[in-house]
Amino acid sequence: MSMLEEAGLKPKKLKCPNCSNKFVPKFFHREKVKFELGAPLHRFKIPKFKNSNGNSRPYNIVRRSWVTFCPKCKYIIKFAAEVGKKEMLADFSSLLHLKEFKENGNIYEYSFNDYEKPYKEALYYNEILMEDLRNDILNTLEDLNLAHWGKLYKMWKRESSIDSFKFLIRFYSLILKHIEIQDVKISNEKYSEKIKNLDLPEVLKKDLLEIKELRRKTIYEYYDLNEVDEGFIRNVFINLMFELVFKKLEPLELKSIYNKKDAEILDNEFLYSEFKKLFSNYLEEQLGLGEYANEFVISLLNKLKVTLT
Ligand SMILES: [Zn+2]
Repeated sequence: MSMLEEAGLKPKKLKCPNCSNKFVPKFFHREKVKFELGAPLHRFKIPKFKNSNGNSRPYNIVRRSWVTFCPKCKYIIKFAAEVGKKEMLADFSSLLHLKEFKENGNIYEYSFNDYEKPYKEALYYNEILMEDLRNDILNTLEDLNLAHWGKLYKMWKRESSIDSFKFLIRFYSLILKHIEIQDVKISNEKYSEKIKNLDLPEVLKKDLLEIKELRRKTIYEYYDLNEVDEGFIRNVFINLMFELVFKKLEPLELKSIYNKKDAEILDNEFLYSEFKKLFSNYLEEQLGLGEYANEFVISLLNKLKVTLT
């Protein structure tokens, strides 16, 4: 099933009068109609032109049209965008106004009406699909309670209301909570066992063991955290957040938006930049990663196989 079908969207397609290709127009331009001799009028989808007798002006005229083209054969297809209807005026001054004209003793003018684009453009479907995905993503991430982790990180990095030592202590508590351990004095063996069971990369597991050791040293050996330690703690935090977010989003299979069936309608560039915006805003708000946010988001999209191509 295609992503669009899943979202309950059945795009209305335009059939090219030249090659019969069916497609969703990428865009429509609105342009002034130039009346060219021999221009095929069947291209205008409007009430039929009625050519009245003699030299009278027609009942309907097209002033502007919606223009698009067939992606396959490049045939230009036009639809009426602004149509004028000839109307006889009952009331008029003796002088003709600019738009008025005289025919057989009566005064007429054209009254113009706008027509909407005859088909939805591709962007419309992309936007609806994105809205759908956005809701899915935000609902899914809600379970992680990232704000909980982020609150701590912001206190350390953004507000400087706690120092690295306090951050380490509280970060460790959050890790214990995450692995469902109540007692902070958990033995190394038990802790290792719990960490090993987590569905995380080996390197990160090793780092999480190191966090416990670092905490022990700072508390019991009066070890002072240096810049290297601070960088290490920050990286472990960010990497852990990354894995939690990734694991949560992976089952959504965002990469399946590149389903072949929708390929001609879906705009990769649009979707990629929307995903990027969505994750950047959400993660910044929840975690406050600041300068590390961009790399976080790009890596996340890569790992989810959401790509530009
Ligand atoms: Zn065509």
